[in-house]
Amino acid sequence: HWAISLRDVTVRYPNGTVGLNGVSLDIPAGSMVAIVGLSGSGKSTLIRTINGLVPVTAGTLTVGGCAVDGARPRALRALRGEIGMVFQGFNLAGRASVLQNVLVGRLAHTPLWRTLIGRYRGSDKQLAYEALDSVGILPKLYARASDLSGGQQQRVAIARALTQQPKIVLADEPVASLDPPTAHSVMGDLRRINEERGITVLVNLHLLDLAREYGVRLIGMRAGEVVYDGPAASASDAD
Ligand code: ADP
Ligand code: ADP
Repeated sequence: HWAISLRDVTVRYPNGTVGLNGVSLDIPAGSMVAIVGLSGSGKSTLIRTINGLVPVTAGTLTVGGCAVDGARPRALRALRGEIGMVFQGFNLAGRASVLQNVLVGRLAHTPLWRTLIGRYRGSDKQLAYEALDSVGILPKLYARASDLSGGQQQRVAIARALTQQPKIVLADEPVASLDPPTAHSVMGDLRRINEERGITVLVNLHLLDLAREYGVRLIGMRAGEVVYDGPAASASDAD
């Protein structure tokens, strides 16, 4: 029941820029969706709106049956606990170890005193090990995050999201700063967590080829509007 639903959603930024213009979408739980469009087309606005980071100006947005807009802070925190985020720039603590970075995904589930003294539950560590293993980075457990390659850092970020045991993973241009072979393997990881764990994955991309190969459904955006919505494999540049 972790569907995402947008009805005529418009997002206008305080400076008047329109980020989304009347977007309607139904994304069932367990979907693998690639969102494609040029820079400025509204992809990251869409993702940040779903996560409640950017307010809806008009229309309705529900995630898991709950209205995101107008949600109380407590409800919004609970929602964000179910959504794992992956960013282009990895957003890791460079000086901290891989394990420490991944355990941050358990923060919402960990009593404050434990995080303050760095004592995590055995069950949390187990989740972290499993997540690191599933993206092939377990051998780097004690490495400093900043000593890893870009692809490895992005896998750590994906493991951190997995440790949250999310229903949804939102990835904003996760491979934009990676070389093509690394981009393919990171996209493969995202596809696998969708297939094996049934997690809904929404991934922003500016390369149509990657979207066609790893998306199941493709949403094309232009100037804040959805201009294509259909099977990824058959989407062409003309769409
Ligand atoms: P991308 O195109 O890769 O999504 P941008 O370079 O457009 O990223 O945006 C980078 C950051 O700058 C984002 O946090 C975005 O919210 C912000 N930003 C983008 N456009 C504007 C703007 N016109 N005014 C203020 N902030 C902006
Ligand atoms: P994309 O992710 O496809 O590059 P964005 O969602 O970042 O597109 O941007 C959509 C539009 O909203 C662009 O015109 C961008 O400049 C604008 N925008 C994005 N973030 C902000 C912001 N924080 N303030 C004002 N305008 C923004």
